[in-house]
Amino acid sequence: MVGLIVPAAGMGVRLGVGMPKALYTVGGQTLLSHAVRAAVESGVVSAIVVAAPPGLATRVLEFVQPEIPADVLVRVVDGGVSRQSSVRAALTAMSSDIDVVLVHDAARCLAPPRLFAEVAAAVQAGRAAVVPGLEVVDTLKQVDRRGSVVDTPDRTVLRAVQTPQGFRRGLLQRAHDAATGDEATDDAGLVERLGQPVYVVPGDESAFKVTRPLDLLLAEALLAARAADEGHR
Ligand code: C5P
Repeated sequence: MVGLIVPAAGMGVRLGVGMPKALYTVGGQTLLSHAVRAAVESGVVSAIVVAAPPGLATRVLEFVQPEIPADVLVRVVDGGVSRQSSVRAALTAMSSDIDVVLVHDAARCLAPPRLFAEVAAAVQAGRAAVVPGLEVVDTLKQVDRRGSVVDTPDRTVLRAVQTPQGFRRGLLQRAHDAATGDEATDDAGLVERLGQPVYVVPGDESAFKVTRPLDLLLAEALLAARAADEGHR
């Protein structure tokens, strides 16, 4: 069975909205509600654990509960000081019958349901760690501390990686248990440190991460386009 972890405990400093990012509203609903609804709509998720900003678990549960059907178990835990510690706390609270875990940032609130289904299917087909990725459109430069360029990596071999990321539960647990620092920005990175393979499936442009104010405009526009599209059906 497939479980979903939603790290939603970030403070959203770069967004500058003066509140935890996952609880900010776009298109009439919180980023967190959009993210959870898409996961539920995929039809593959049996249990959900949300890592909430510390002290806000009750409020977070109120936001997500309406999105969750009666047969899907939901828990909310206090997140940690880093994304990595938030995921670790949620993993501990995941029910024992879950053997595949999807980890999905609340901030990637418009990832489509099919992406959850495709990542879960790839794990169930035998890939123990799966990430959605997009080709990189910008030329990327590696710089030193003074800002001088030291390298221009070949962008054809680079991928911009998104969530949901999918894992065999045992592998994700081992990766978090083995982690030494607290600075991993995604879970696949911890699996890589174990020397285990991570497989990339095609990502989706709408799974972008709401990080800066411009991303809010994009999210609002995309939601308006989706609403207009549904209105025409
Ligand atoms: O900061 P960033 O945008 O990379 O965060 C990605 C996701 O991790 C967000 O959904 C955020 O809420 C979550 N996060 C968390 N706990 C933290 C920091 C970030 O759950 N301490």
